[in-house]
Parts: sequence; C-alpha cells; structure tokens
Amino acid sequence: MSRVDLQSVVKTFGERTVIEPIDLTVDEGSFTVLVGPSGCGKSTTLRMIAGLEQPTGGRIGIGGRDVTSLPPGERGVAMVFQNYAIYPTMNVERNIEYGLKNTGVAKAERRELVEEIAETVGLTDHLRKSPDQLSGGERQRVALARAMVRKPAVFLMDEPLSNLDARLRQHMRAELVDLHARLGATFIYVTHDQVEAMSMGSRIVLMDQGRIMQDASPLELYTRPANTFAARFIGSPP
Ligand code: ADP
Ligand code: MG
Repeated sequence: MSRVDLQSVVKTFGERTVIEPIDLTVDEGSFTVLVGPSGCGKSTTLRMIAGLEQPTGGRIGIGGRDVTSLPPGERGVAMVFQNYAIYPTMNVERNIEYGLKNTGVAKAERRELVEEIAETVGLTDHLRKSPDQLSGGERQRVALARAMVRKPAVFLMDEPLSNLDARLRQHMRAELVDLHARLGATFIYVTHDQVEAMSMGSRIVLMDQGRIMQDASPLELYTRPANTFAARFIGSPP
C-alpha cells in the first residue's frame, strides 16, 4: 500500500506561493519522475511528501493514510538526496546500519538486514571498506542501501545522480530502473534533466512555476504534449 496522493497541496514561503494548489496521484509501484526547470518546486513537493516541509494547505496521503501531520519517520518513506551524506569515519557496513537507527531492530537481525541489502545493491565485497576507498557510484549505492534497510514502500529521490560524472550517471540510471523493478516499491524521482526523466520514468509529472503542466506517460508526453511549455521542454514539435 504505497500510493501517494496530494490534494490541493499549497506551499508559501512568506508572501511567495511556490506551490500552487496541486493535485497529484502517484500510483503504487510506479517510477514517477517530477521534472521541470530549476526553481519550479520539485524539491519542495518532494520534501512535503517526506514530511521535511509542512504544506501551507491541502492534504497528503500515503497508502490511503492521511500523513499530513505525521513526522518523516512515521510515513514509511525514505529519502535519497543529491548530496548523499556518508559518514567518513564509519565503514560501509556501519553506514548502512545507520539507516536502522532508532528502529529497535535487534543487533543480530540488523546484521542480516545489512547483508541482504548490501547484496541487492552490489556492495557485499565492500562492507569493511571506509568511504574514501569507494568510487562515486559505490558511495551513491551506500546512500541507497541506507535508505533501503528500513524497507520503505516509497522512495523519494532528489537529483540523486547529479554529482556523478556523465558515464557513471548513465550507468546508475539503468541500475535504479532495475532496482525499482526488483523492489516493487514506489519511486518518486526528481530531476531537471528531461533525458533522464524520459529514460527512467513510467510516469512523468512536468512542473513549471509551482504548477503541474502535464502528468503523463513518457510516450504520451512526447507525442501529445498538452501545451507549448511541455512541447518545448520535451523538445517535440508543438
Ligand atoms: P526545484 O527543486 O524545482 O529547483 P525548489 O522546490 O527548491 O525548486 O524551490 C521552489 C521555489 O521555492 C524556489 O523559488 C525557491 O527559491 C523557493 N524556496 C525553496 N525553499 C525555500 C525556503 N526554505 N524559503 C524560501 N523560499 C524557498
Ligand atoms: Mg531541487
């Protein structure tokens, strides 16, 4: 149960409305991409779903439950950021285990969970290494693994690949799509890169200036852009 619903969600900072009332349903198990130019409100939207930012108005539901007033830890979501925070003094195993902090999972079970997740993301041979012995892609996988140990039903990712070089980014895109298929979880993925959006998403939510300009499959968005903005952004003829 991991559908995400936004109903008339609004966000203002002081006098400024950065998210106009938006309605959005993210299907359970989908790979939904929020895409749009810098400053259009992607991160704010994601942070409201995560509970890191409180909406000024409207309601947010996850798995049919109203979570609008719940703290991040009780929403069943995990967030993976652009600047993945890895603790330099902890080895890979400890870094991943850190995701289980305050969960009350017993030590033996923790170890099992960490090993299982490490295997899923291909870090089994790196568990004893310190972060400075890892490549950028491996570090990104540690951040993913840390989010995964709680087995969240919803993964929220804010430009998680933007610090990687082009080749690695390409590779990690494919890895994330594959991981999504294996986990069967709901992914909400933020990027400003239309190529990334179109190649990864099963559903594309195109935003501009705090509004949703189109919400469609990649094919539909490409072949039937709903407006001039969508056509320009996607680079298809209007
Ligand atoms: P995106 O992720 O699409 O680049 P953001 O959601 O980060 O956009 O920002 C949307 C708008 O809200 C921007 O104009 C940004 O300056 C503004 N904004 C974001 N966070 C804050 C904040 N804490 N205080 C004031 N303005 C903010
Ligand atoms: Mg952002």
